[in-house]
Amino acid sequence: MEVNVSEILKNEGFKKEFYFFEDIGNNTIEFFGEKIYITKPVEIEGYAINYEGKIRLNMNIETEINRSCSRCLGSYNEKLNIDAEYVFVINPDNQSKDEILIKGETIALDEYVMDEITSQMAMKPLCKSDCKGLCPKCGKNKNYEKCECILDEIDPRLQVLSSIFKKK
Ligand SMILES: [Zn+2]
Ligand SMILES: [Zn+2]
Repeated sequence: MEVNVSEILKNEGFKKEFYFFEDIGNNTIEFFGEKIYITKPVEIEGYAINYEGKIRLNMNIETEINRSCSRCLGSYNEKLNIDAEYVFVINPDNQSKDEILIKGETIALDEYVMDEITSQMAMKPLCKSDCKGLCPKCGKNKNYEKCECILDEIDPRLQVLSSIFKKK
């Protein structure tokens, strides 16, 4: 996925639109040891414009990833819809913070798209916000099944509290 910016560089105000619908990164992303599958080609729609000699690039990224729920371990698909903006410069003297220096006349989008997708990922993904998780005793998925287990262990959140009280 490359955007050729040679014409944009030559003309202030020149705008170029782009569109891609492609697989990216062998359809997998490594995220803190988790292997995440990108289940759909990534759809990218955007434009690049020469604004005061810099290249402003706006894009919308749409795709879908497959993750494992951190509570019930079930796999689920999550749709992503991301708006991103970057500013590229060709002259280092002209570069401000958060602007990216480019060499040559093409901008390869893959790396930026991957970064955007990764930045949307939750550290503790949930298949749904109220996922009931697995029973710690019998292992049943409590979203689908009920069990009669009596849990006598103290809730870990309460355990923290009780140790605070002990210190006093
Ligand atoms: Zn879940
Ligand atoms: Zn149970």
